[in-house]
Amino acid sequence: MKLSFVIPVYNEEKGFRKFYNNLLLPELKKIKYDYELILVNDGSKDKTLNIIQKVAKTDKNIKILCFSRNFGKEVALTAGIREAVGDAIITMDADGQQPPKLIHDFIKKWEEGGEIIIGVRGKYEKHGFIAKIGSKIFYKILNAMGVKDTVPGSTDFRLIDRCVADEYNKLTEHGRITRGLMDWMGFNKVYIDYIYGNRLAGKPSYNFRKLFQLAIDSFVSLSVTPLVVLGWIGCFITIASFILGLFILIEEFIMGDPLQLGWTGTSCLSIFITFLVGLILTSQAIIALYISHIHAEAQGRPLYIIDYKNSRNLNRDNTTSRHRGEEPRRLS
Ligand code: UDP
Ligand code: MG
Repeated sequence: MKLSFVIPVYNEEKGFRKFYNNLLLPELKKIKYDYELILVNDGSKDKTLNIIQKVAKTDKNIKILCFSRNFGKEVALTAGIREAVGDAIITMDADGQQPPKLIHDFIKKWEEGGEIIIGVRGKYEKHGFIAKIGSKIFYKILNAMGVKDTVPGSTDFRLIDRCVADEYNKLTEHGRITRGLMDWMGFNKVYIDYIYGNRLAGKPSYNFRKLFQLAIDSFVSLSVTPLVVLGWIGCFITIASFILGLFILIEEFIMGDPLQLGWTGTSCLSIFITFLVGLILTSQAIIALYISHIHAEAQGRPLYIIDYKNSRNLNRDNTTSRHRGEEPRRLS
């Protein structure tokens, strides 16, 4: 039996050594199974790669999967899970916020037959009133939208059995949220509450600015920004002409034209046509949005690109070939 640990790392130069030496390694020494530690360097811009390469020299169980640029945590997790060969895979963050001590509980539940063991935060945490209400509303909306499998507070800190990983590796969508997909997949789930700690060092990379930038980037790269603008213009025209039409009706026919504007049939008709043009623009933009999503999936680009020169000790030299169902080529 073998365990795989998958840890995405992005700009963690300040905290990684502390995380590895003080938090993770002592726990790894206690487990009775063989293990591999897959560190996915998600295009770090600081000295993270250098640091994890040095740490890898001290431990033959460490594998480094290095991306050619930043692809985001969700994709990094996916790549790590595809690379993993263990009978169970544990995913966790590299910043110490998800306590490695908990892995023993995860493993115990897995041995008892759990197929997805999920770390849940929140139960022991003190939240402000707004945060509490906000999270309640978020999950209520999610539920109303038909996403009923997500337990509030579920995190990416989890263990999945090999059977789950094999199915997960078959999923092909590009826009992905790892935990959401896993929740959707079913299987036998066990939940374990934990306290989300503080970062050992550095700043979380998912701040508002980055999320906003990410949104803008994806708009531009998919060329939907003009469509979105078009949609807004359409909405504006529709609403403005509707209001104007309503104003004419009331002013002319109900109030008896007190402003002496003298509306004619032609002007009413032209406002009606403007209203329809707005409606058409809006619906066109909505359809285009859907098509752009299909376009992104149909492009069939790989989810990520591996920088093999800086990767170390990998099980496979082409993780995407496995994903496409081809026979993976082993590194000699
Ligand atoms: N991370 C990553 N790619 C990114 C951003 C973050 O691999 O683009 C990693 C990061 O190094 C950490 C984990 O994902 O191990 C969680 O990131 P972060 O602490 O920024 O997120 P939060 O704790 O706010 O969920
Ligand atoms: Mg964090």
